[in-house]
Amino acid sequence: MGSPGMSRALSVLWTVTPSIYPQPWRSCSRCGEPRPFRCSGKFRLNANGKRLDAWLVYKCMACDGTWNHAVIERRAARDFEPAVLAALEANDANLVRRFAFDLAALGKSVHRIEEFAEVTVPKTLLGEAPVHVPSLEIALDVPVPISLRLDRLLAAELGLSRNRIAAMAQAGRISASGALNRRCRDGGRVRLDFADEADAEVIWRAAICEAAASGRRDCPG
Ligand SMILES: [Zn+2]
Repeated sequence: MGSPGMSRALSVLWTVTPSIYPQPWRSCSRCGEPRPFRCSGKFRLNANGKRLDAWLVYKCMACDGTWNHAVIERRAARDFEPAVLAALEANDANLVRRFAFDLAALGKSVHRIEEFAEVTVPKTLLGEAPVHVPSLEIALDVPVPISLRLDRLLAAELGLSRNRIAAMAQAGRISASGALNRRCRDGGRVRLDFADEADAEVIWRAAICEAAASGRRDCPG
């Protein structure tokens, strides 16, 4: 066991996951005009004969009319691993998410896709928290693309204003592997040096605690 060092950075993994599926806009045959469609979280399968088709089912936000988004088209059934087939039949949440966030595939059948910035950010402490925390390293795990700027994510999760984030970046106390005004990227890293900040402990505690919807924070330990 190492002793808590003065210069050791606190290291934390943020898994940034959108809480709302992207909504494709398409002309609803029932409404007779363009409407946003929400992902139902369910697949429709047609495994007749040797060919397999699968659709992810969407519902019109206005009339609940159905639109089936083709995710697997006329593929030889024997090419499918039983596990994939079972996941389709069970409406496996991870598989739904993979297809629901495949904007390139969705974009082939719709003109416009509405994305949402709402995210949940479970946080995993990597190693033990040192007694004194002069700096913080945040690793970003972004399993599906999100339309959320890095500075907005940092401001929301650290409980700081975006002006404060900008000022700290200007002073060299925040450095990131990507631009702060661009989308959060998978594998991104952010380093904060805040030894001189009066509220350093408030900041690093926020960094390792998941912000609950109520505004309360669920902290480990
Ligand atoms: Zn409709």
